[in-house]
Amino acid sequence: MSLITLDSENFRHNLDLFTTHVNNISNNKAKVCMVLKDNAYGHGLEEMSELAAKANIKEVFVKNFLEAKGIAHKFENVTFFYGLPQAKIDNIYTTIHSLQDIEKIESVLHDVSGLKVELKVNIGMNRNGIEPKDIAKCIDSLLKKKVVLVGVFGHNGYGDSDDEIEFNLEIKRFNEVKDEVAYISKKIGFKLPRFHSFNTACTLRASRYEDDLVRIGMGLYGYATPMHKLSSKLKPVLKLYANKISTKLLHKGDKVGYDGVTKIKDTCEVSTYDIGYGDGLYRTNGNRILLLPNGNEVLPISSMDCFTTYGSSECICVMDDALSVANSFDTIPYEVLTRLSSFIPRKII
Ligand SMILES: *Cc1c(COP(=O)(O)O)cnc(C)c1O
Repeated sequence: MSLITLDSENFRHNLDLFTTHVNNISNNKAKVCMVLKDNAYGHGLEEMSELAAKANIKEVFVKNFLEAKGIAHKFENVTFFYGLPQAKIDNIYTTIHSLQDIEKIESVLHDVSGLKVELKVNIGMNRNGIEPKDIAKCIDSLLKKKVVLVGVFGHNGYGDSDDEIEFNLEIKRFNEVKDEVAYISKKIGFKLPRFHSFNTACTLRASRYEDDLVRIGMGLYGYATPMHKLSSKLKPVLKLYANKISTKLLHKGDKVGYDGVTKIKDTCEVSTYDIGYGDGLYRTNGNRILLLPNGNEVLPISSMDCFTTYGSSECICVMDDALSVANSFDTIPYEVLTRLSSFIPRKII
């Protein structure tokens, strides 16, 4: 059976690194909150939320209501970024992306009074969130329906970018949003919501931060772009292992797998292991080379449920560094990790 191990010490190490850094750049002691969306970036929602709760992380973010519902009892609050709430649960916050969202929510919940929401504002990525010019109107319509505005957030999309100007412009736009919300809150008299706008890259890049919390995903799992000074200190949390299905002794000229793409050059032992592209491992087809941590190649063409490599060990580490896999397939660790099937057992070590 294949297995994913989650290194609790490495997780603590990454969290300490972010906590120290955020304390250094933030005057108002911004909190380090964790993003657990997409099955905790493929690590396993249940297991990573257990590690996060044990490490005293109190506020987290996920993709949808279902994920939020599964872990809400472990945290002070959980915000879900997308989709509608299926029930009114006090510590689950719904994200509002547009003026129409509240009507959509009403079609599910009927009575939205007391529902806690965070308002997502577009500060430059032009991806989602309401436009800054619509903030007053949006807050007004939320308050009329007695919806509780607990947060206002943006997503600065330039943390990894060479474009320092745009990075700072998005900070400036978000600061304007904060000023406006503070003004409205004073004028109408509702509690000032929390503000947040930085992910991993922005947090590592910044030398100052004035919001209330950072939303850290990838950094806590152990990865960040090399352009940031602290990136090399992060330690990957996840390792992926596979178990042997069978071993064969092959000779020069023998072929392996679909279409016989791999041709054996010398007598050798090869073994198959129980992970394939159906489990989220990239499929090797001969064009790109996937190396295992032991330096051996995943022989093309790999299969849905298994792959073949040289050697005969019972258990093999398939991945201990998602960045090296990402580099082989011209992608990023986010994609490599989120592909990992939720059916693979997870174990905290
Ligand atoms: C995914 C996500 C994050 C976390 O991003 P990382 O780069 O993994 O730190 C933060 N905020 C929002 C809105 C997100 O969707």
